[in-house]
Amino acid sequence: MAEEAPVIGSDPASYSLRLDRVSKHYGVVRAVDDVSLEIERGEFLTLLGPSGSGKTTLLMIVAGFIAPNAGEVLLGGKPITHLAPEKRELGMVFQGYALFPHMTVAENIAFPLKVRRQAVEAIRDKVDKMLELVQLTGFADRLPRQLSGGQQQRVALARAMSFSPEILLLDEPLGALDRKLRTEMQVELKQLHQRLGTTFVYVTHDQEEALSMSDRIVILRDGKCIQIGDPEELYEKPASRFVASFLGESNFMKGAVEGTDNGAVRYGVAGRTFRQAAKGVDLAKGDDILIAMRPEKIGLSAAEPGGDVNSVLGEIVNWNYFGSNFHFTFAAEGIGDLAVTTPAWQCTIRPEVGGKVWLTWSDDASVIVEED
Ligand code: ADP
Ligand code: MG
Repeated sequence: MAEEAPVIGSDPASYSLRLDRVSKHYGVVRAVDDVSLEIERGEFLTLLGPSGSGKTTLLMIVAGFIAPNAGEVLLGGKPITHLAPEKRELGMVFQGYALFPHMTVAENIAFPLKVRRQAVEAIRDKVDKMLELVQLTGFADRLPRQLSGGQQQRVALARAMSFSPEILLLDEPLGALDRKLRTEMQVELKQLHQRLGTTFVYVTHDQEEALSMSDRIVILRDGKCIQIGDPEELYEKPASRFVASFLGESNFMKGAVEGTDNGAVRYGVAGRTFRQAAKGVDLAKGDDILIAMRPEKIGLSAAEPGGDVNSVLGEIVNWNYFGSNFHFTFAAEGIGDLAVTTPAWQCTIRPEVGGKVWLTWSDDASVIVEED
């Protein structure tokens, strides 16, 4: 906000958050383990990882509620590692939203502004603007308990953003909402982010939420940053078995390299040879190889396919109809179980347990990943 000098970072254009080799240990538990990250101004960055992977600890370190054992936190290029939380001027929203129950919606939103001793008129204007932003105009005088869960969450957002923080920290803010409302709020939050241009650091363990909302995703595991990338990059090019199975669903095949030619490798699994596109990878005959393949990238065909597409015969062991899709589990000869999803309207095979079908995939439908 123009009338309010930020405590840190005099040049707003350079504002960004940086973590430099940050660690936090609790005894032998490495809650955060040597994490370095650079967050761009205006970015929607998501920390994604299973429960216990260090997401909350990392966010609390940024907020200033937890001091790291090692490393620096920098805001707009300046170290703030030892700055008190209230001096960091970061907005925060957590799961469960914790509105002040005895304050009205307007009073809740005004609270951070009162703490900052802003003028009464300025506060009134700002509260009106925030109510409009979160689409709650007309709800100013209600108490939190007179609102739905989604509305309460929007008030919490408005309160966190009322003083125009440079960065908004959100820790599983939609975790308490039911599925339908959560999906709606995901869209709203994303739109809000686009309108405001505020930097969002968002924590979730929900991979769909991360994929649909983020500019970039950081995958955390056991306190470590495993892979960073935009959603498509992470989904299409997971580096490891962990990322391939945590972000979306994957089939895995272990094989042995038989040879390389023309930007591809040939590998064998149980006496069968398949081809895998592989540019610039260092593999030689006899090397172990781990292949990850998305269920939606496997084609189904009643007749044996010709040409040089990869194929294997599979027997349907299970199938489910989801309206838009069929989900199949096949026992593939020599490979084991393969999950396949296919749009129902395009499904040309008969879903029938015991039915035999050819499974096909092109050499660039799968990726080579690291074993964990
Ligand atoms: P997440 O938010 O990803 O679920 P957390 O950051 O809450 O993960 O926790 C990361 C790890 O640190 C977990 O193993 C957790 O048990 C441990 N941990 C977190 N806070 C404390 C604490 N105050 N004392 C001891 N261990 C903690
Ligand atoms: Mg957490």
